[in-house]
Amino acid sequence: MDFKDFHFAPPLAKAIAQCGYSTPTQIQQQAIPHLLQRKDLLGLAQTGTGKTAAYLLPTLQTLLAQQKKGVRALILVPTRELAEQVYKNTLQLSTLTSLRSCTIYGGVSKVEQMKKLARGVEVVIACPGRLLDHIQSKTVDLRNLDTLILDEADQMFDKGFLPDIRRILTHIPAKRHSMVFSATMPDEVRGFVEDILQDPVTIQIDHDKPSKTISHTLFQVAQDNKTTLLRDVLLSHNTPKTLVFTKTRFKAKSLGAQLLRQGFAVTSLQGNMSQPQRQAAMDGFRKGKFKVLIATDIAARGIDVSEISLVINYDVPDTVEAYTHRVGRTGRAEHTGQALTFATQADKRIVRLVEHQLGRIFVAGSVETTGQGNTEHLQAHHDDRATAQVEEKEARIFTGKKAHRREKRPFPFASNHPVKHVRSKRTRKSQTAL
Ligand code: AMP
Repeated sequence: MDFKDFHFAPPLAKAIAQCGYSTPTQIQQQAIPHLLQRKDLLGLAQTGTGKTAAYLLPTLQTLLAQQKKGVRALILVPTRELAEQVYKNTLQLSTLTSLRSCTIYGGVSKVEQMKKLARGVEVVIACPGRLLDHIQSKTVDLRNLDTLILDEADQMFDKGFLPDIRRILTHIPAKRHSMVFSATMPDEVRGFVEDILQDPVTIQIDHDKPSKTISHTLFQVAQDNKTTLLRDVLLSHNTPKTLVFTKTRFKAKSLGAQLLRQGFAVTSLQGNMSQPQRQAAMDGFRKGKFKVLIATDIAARGIDVSEISLVINYDVPDTVEAYTHRVGRTGRAEHTGQALTFATQADKRIVRLVEHQLGRIFVAGSVETTGQGNTEHLQAHHDDRATAQVEEKEARIFTGKKAHRREKRPFPFASNHPVKHVRSKRTRKSQTAL
């Protein structure tokens, strides 16, 4: 399935492409057709599944078609952080439209929010308490509302927001399009949801758990140092079939060319290649002519090669689903497999989500160095020494030397788990400088 199948208006279709979304996630595939038909929907799905775009895209499409003024869509969320995240996604997806949006939550100035509301917005992303405040002071008018979305309903319940939401419901039209998303469905929430939704479609998306035979290792690394790290990993592992994932076609191609020059038996697979080129790459990889295949997610979709024992996420995937999909290329049929992920500080959130899904934290990676990736080398690549120093502090967990002392410190990306540090004879010192 392709986003084109949904026939979104051109400004949305363009924005989807700009966001780098090429294939709809499971929840998008299942929810969007119902939502475009304005069916009420109960989505049982966690963060990381792409649920935000699943509800935003049909909502924005409807608003574009209606061209009416006033607050038309209300997205209720339990936390400020989620409000900001949804707002960011809304801005990305509506960037080429005239639709305006704003956030409403407590702990910040109400005046700024009032000004934005007064100027006019079509989409409001709000936490219940502050929204009620605005309703009471008549600084928000929800009488023309068309779409109501409740995100993370179970969290709303945990935070005691259900009475507030009931009060908000008395200020919005009964005739509306409604959707509720929740990771779990405790009885209290189920009863409540039944009151909000009319004849809803229910869809449930479970993250597939990767096979238990796969080990998951994380290297925290600066973007500029990933290629050196990859080279060291490939040399130290020397596995017959390694699949490396990059985010972009360009990177898959350039990385392939770079490693080829360095003498690796490597090939790339990316969307800009002709069919015969792709076939040659795949055949070569399958037959062992190439030991390393560098691919983008889409290009790798059809890969069914047995004996891939190592999958490397050179770039962290955008979704938990994509992580599961990628690492599912190894550890098949109860064979053991390794998944190594190169993450920068910017990947923190998705790394946590993956850990949540795996039900365990990543093992901190270490690798024997080729002797070329030393600290000086890395620092020379940093424009900003101060940044390097901050990152060094956060990432010392990877040092061979200091790891003894720091072994019990929480992993930088994990919330509160002790770290199992894997050491090799000579750990990759270059990672220590990040
Ligand atoms: P969510 O579950 O909505 O928090 O989304 C998790 C992440 O997936 C966000 O970073 C989204 O930008 C990203 N995302 C959503 N839909 C897609 C898609 N179709 N392809 C790739 N990434 C996506």
